[in-house]
Order: sequence, then structure tokens, then C-alpha cells
Amino acid sequence: TIILGIETSCDETGVGIVALDADGGVRLLADEVASSVEQHARFGGVVPEVASRAHLEAMVPTMRRAFDAAGLAMSDVDAITVTCGPGLAGALLVGVSAAKAYALSLGVPLYGANHLAGHIAAVTLEYGPLPQPCMALLVSGGHSQLLRVDDLATSITEIGSTIDDAAGEAYDKVARVLDLPYPGGPPIDAAARRGNPRAIAFPRGLTGPRDARHDFSFSGLKTAVARWVEAHEPEPVPIDDVAASFQESVADVLTMKAVRACQDEGIATLVVSGGVAANSRLKELAAERCAAAGIELRVPRPRLCTDNGAMMAALGAHLVAAGVKPSSLDLSANPALPVSTISV
Ligand code: ATP
Ligand code: MG
Ligand code: FE
Repeated sequence: TIILGIETSCDETGVGIVALDADGGVRLLADEVASSVEQHARFGGVVPEVASRAHLEAMVPTMRRAFDAAGLAMSDVDAITVTCGPGLAGALLVGVSAAKAYALSLGVPLYGANHLAGHIAAVTLEYGPLPQPCMALLVSGGHSQLLRVDDLATSITEIGSTIDDAAGEAYDKVARVLDLPYPGGPPIDAAARRGNPRAIAFPRGLTGPRDARHDFSFSGLKTAVARWVEAHEPEPVPIDDVAASFQESVADVLTMKAVRACQDEGIATLVVSGGVAANSRLKELAAERCAAAGIELRVPRPRLCTDNGAMMAALGAHLVAAGVKPSSLDLSANPALPVSTISV
């Protein structure tokens, strides 16, 4: 069974193709991504109208590249999964409209599915079937959540989330303070590896004894970094040390809370996904702390952590295998789709 995945929730036009084998195995056949990130860089954030237009231009060429890479024809497709939320309304609509047109013309079932569940499904492309229940730490540009996954096709429960900024958003904002390019994750990660993570004691948000156990807060950290830099001007900013100390705070809080969530829920597998899961220190500390707590850790390779179509195809394979009912062709985009709604 060949499943096509289409992703346009933000600034990446992703087209992925997987094969769902008779034994339930999922094989990645193509993963093509066209990003408009450079068009947004000078604005320091994604400009919705620019993203929508870029999706329109990239959709057909990206689709062609994916089918070429897989050595398949459009007529080989047996089912289509498309991100229908959460994300930018105009951006989502481009993918949803394309997916509906392809599903209608090919006469195959269409699954409108959740982008965040897709990020979790990405891990199955690398590690095979997901042990369930598992805990997912989803950390991206728009989200920082702890999700209890009882069944990736039907049951995801949010047990914690950020009360202000997402982890990736904090990276992007701190990068701006340090005059590093957008998106901030990769350059901060690189600078941090040259710096001293203990140089500056930045705050660890919501880790006090009275704080909600599973929620996150990164806006205080972001402000603390900005204040520190302001207070030391006009001296040259020790960018590497600031980046390393900031990164240490983020990784410390995320891994501490993820391990605690697994322990509270009696769960033995932790999945870390979303763009920030590409972070080197987060992966290192998660590996250390999971090993100490006897928790199995699964993190997709960086390319599968950031937005892509392969993860939506992988989620589609899971929905097909579970016998979930396809969406109707009047499917629409839902920018605020809750994570508990895995497919519509
Ligand atoms: P969402 O999935 O919440 O809708 P999104 O799709 O924009 O948001 P992703 O593409 O999953 O988010 O992730 C992008 C984010 O990941 C950006 O904020 C970026 O700075 C961050 N990021 C990417 N690489 C790294 C890294 N190595 N370290 C830290 N953050 C990173
Ligand atoms: Mg992106
Ligand atoms: Fe994403």
C-alpha cells in the first residue's frame, strides 16, 4: 500500500511517500521538502502570505521530485494524508486543496490529519512500530508539549504545555538578541558547542516545588537573556557562552520534565520530536537522563524532526493500518486543531 503525505502547515512544502507492507512495516520511499525560510529570514519570522504563495509555487514541482525519487507514478498511490491543522490558515489551505484534488482525481481515500501527531509518527520511520503507551516531548517553533500517546491513530492526551513561548520560539527570539540569523535553532546550537554552559546561571522556568509539574515557560528565560546582554553592553557579547548557558537551561528543563512525566505516568518510552529535537544538547541530556531512569529514548534524525511530508505519510500508514475512517472530500483546514484530534 503506497501512501502519499502532504505537509504545508508553516513554511515547508513537504511531500513524502511511504510503503505500508503486509506485515505492518513502513518503508520511506521519498521525502522532498521545499522551504521558503530564506524569504522570511529578513523579517525574523514566518510571513503567512509569503508562505502561502511559496506553497502554491512549490507544490507541483515538489510532488514531481518525490515521485521521481520513489520511482513511482501518481497512479500507484493508494491513500493520501494531508496536514489539516494546526498551522497557518492560508498555508494549510494550499496543501488541503491540493490533496483533495489529487484524492478526487485518483479516486483514493484522503485523511486530513494532525501535524503534531505527524511529528510523533516521524519516529516510526527510523525505529519501526511505536511502543504504546509512550510519552512524546513535542518541541517545535509553535509548540512545547508533553503528550501521552496511548494509540497514535486514536488517542493522544496533552498532559503539559507551554504557558507562554514555545521552545523553538525562544531560540528564534534569543537569536535575534544575539544578532544570529533566523531561524535561531541551528546557529545557537553551533555557538553553544563552543561556549561554556555554566558561564551564566539563567532561570529554569516552572521548576519550583509549587509549579505545575508538566507545564513549560520560556518567556522568562528569553527576557533574562535579553536583560543580561543589555546589562553588559557596550562590552562585546560573549555569544558562545550566552548561547551555551541559554541552551543548557532549555535542555535541562525539557529533559527533567519529560523524564518526570514518564515516571508519573508509568511510561517506559520517550519520543522527542519537532524542530527543536534536532538540538544536539537536548539529545545528549535526554539520552543521559533516560538511561539513568531506565526509559527508552527515540529521537528522529534532524531532517525528520523539522517539518516534512514523510512524517504525514507515516502517520497515514498508521491510520490506514488501524482502519481509521477516511475524511470526507469537504475537508477543510483547521488552524487551531487540538492535538487530541488526530484525524478528522
Ligand atoms: P509547529 O510544528 O509547532 O507548527 P514549526 O512547524 O514551525 O512549528 P518545526 O519546523 O517543527 O516548527 O521547527 C522549527 C523550530 O525548530 C524553529 O524554531 C527552529 O529554531 C528550531 N530548531 C531547528 N533546529 C534546531 C536546533 N538544532 N536546536 C534548537 N532549535 C532548533
Ligand atoms: Mg519550519
Ligand atoms: Fe512542525
